[in-house]
Parts: sequence; C-alpha cells; structure tokens
Amino acid sequence: MHDAAFAALGVDARYEAWDVPPSELAGTVARLREPDVLGANVTVPHKRAVMELLDRIAPEARAIGAVNVIAKTAAGLEGSNSDAEGFLRSLREAGVDPAGLHVRLLGAGGAARAVGYALLRAGVARLEIVNRTHARAEELAADLADGAGGRVTALGEATAAPEAVGVWVQATSLGMRKQGRDPQERPVPAAVLEACARAATEPPVAVDLVYRPRRTPFLRDAEAAGMTVVDGTGMLVHQGAVAFEAWTGRPAPVPTMRAALVAALAEDGS
Ligand code: NAP
Repeated sequence: MHDAAFAALGVDARYEAWDVPPSELAGTVARLREPDVLGANVTVPHKRAVMELLDRIAPEARAIGAVNVIAKTAAGLEGSNSDAEGFLRSLREAGVDPAGLHVRLLGAGGAARAVGYALLRAGVARLEIVNRTHARAEELAADLADGAGGRVTALGEATAAPEAVGVWVQATSLGMRKQGRDPQERPVPAAVLEACARAATEPPVAVDLVYRPRRTPFLRDAEAAGMTVVDGTGMLVHQGAVAFEAWTGRPAPVPTMRAALVAALAEDGS
C-alpha cells in the first residue's frame, strides 16, 4: 500500500517491516533519527511504550494513550495516532455519520481505544463498550469519560437490548484468520443482530475492524440481517493515508493505496 503510494508520487522511499523486540525499542527509535528515514508506523506491543522515547506526542495520541505513527517535524520525532482519524474517514466514505447515534463497541484493546475516542469526538449520543474481560471495558469507559458528558458506559453483555443500537463496531480480534483460531467465532449471536435490524426504522450499521478476511462471520450475519456493512479495509487504507501525509507532507493517493491493499488481500484469499 505505501510502496504503491511512494511509486505513484515519485517519492524515492520504501516501506520495510521491522520485527523489534522490546529490548531493542530504544535503539530502533534512535535509528529513526537518521536522515534516510521518513518516519514509521508502530504496532503491538510498542504503541504505549514508544511514547517516552519521542520528542513530542500529538494531543489526540496522548488522549488515546497510544502512538501508531512517528513522523519528523521541526520539534524532532512526533508520535501521533492515525487510527481514530482513519476510522472516521472510513465511515464518512461509506456514507455513515455516527453523530447522534447509539453505538455498541465490541472490544477494549488498542484499536477499540482509538475508535471509542473517535466516536465520542464525532458526537455519538451513546457509546456502550463490551469486552470479554469486563474490567478492561470499565477501564476504557473511565478513560474516555472525561469530556464525554455521561455518554459512555461499560456494558456487561453484547446481547442486552439490541433494539436500541444504531451502529455496531467489532473491534475484537475475533474473526481474524489466524492459526489455531476458530474462523467462525462471533462476538455476538446472529439472532441478536436480527433483533436489532427488525426493530430499526433505518438499517443499522455494522463495522468490523478485522480485514483478513474482508467478510468476517460478524459482517456476514449483519449483512444477512439487512444491515449496512463496512469492512476493515476502509480504516486500514485511511489510517495509512493519514500516516503517509504525516511522513511526506503530501496528500495520499488513496485509490492507489486501496488497489494495492485489495490486490494483496485477494492474493492470500481474503
Ligand atoms: P488488542 O489490543 O490485542 O485487543 C484485542 C481485543 O480482542 C480485546 O478486546 C480482547 O479482549 C478481544 N479478544 C481477543 N480474543 C478474544 C476472544 N477469544 N473472545 C472475545 N474477545 C477476544 O488488539 P487491537 O490492536 O485492539 O486489534 C483488534 C483487532 O482490530 C485486530 O484484529 C486488528 O487486526 C484489528 N485492527 C484493524 C485496524 C484497521 O485499520 N482495520 C486497525 C487496528 C486494529 P480481552 O481484553 O478480554 O483480551
């Protein structure tokens, strides 16, 4: 995706994957300061730990508590978070405006943290967080409560009162193709999504952050129930576009990036 974008804009750069154990994080960040490096993405398990190694943290990344982009600025290495903005851009692109809607967020990991922050910023009426480990849902709800005016709560069960929900966001790793994992696992039974869709006057929306496969069991159930579905490739492309803009200072060629991503996913059967 990024290499296709560099080629399309004539930027002499390439995107490399570096496998960095925690003991080498500081040395790797120091390496980013060299002039031949444009910037970096950061992923698990370093999104929080990397913050103290950078010169500046963008306010949004500070509020979310995770950095997934590092770019070079006049102030040195700046850490930011492109997941929140990437998520909102993917909704906008799908014609979904979450403002005023009742949202149920499944998951309380790093991705859910960015998505919850984004949804509150976008003006949702109510945000319910459900997670296998309930204490983490409570912790995330408490972290997001500041300035949310009582709109955010941790919910014990994903199945409770589905009629009220206008947007479901699947932010757990369930459904992701991974060795040793049941690919049919669902975060919520199909009957619950059916009950939600039956009660609605307009089709509810189901968003899945998982992009491999593009049609997860959750999205297949939602689609069968008549919901509007948004797969994880939208957020992946747009968080990448936000990062690309931070590294190069130029608008990202989104269609080029999407085509490269979709081709790569199709190649491995997603
Ligand atoms: P994470 O921090 O490891 O969190 C994983 C989440 O999944 C936690 O809420 C965890 O619950 C839950 N979970 C894991 N196994 C489960 C199971 N068997 N049953 C129920 N819940 C389970 O991961 P993350 O960074 O938030 O990423 C979550 C997913 O989003 C991944 O699949 C990732 O690929 C995807 N993602 C997509 C994009 C995109 O651009 N489309 C961006 C970021 C992430 P517990 O707290 O109980 O462990």
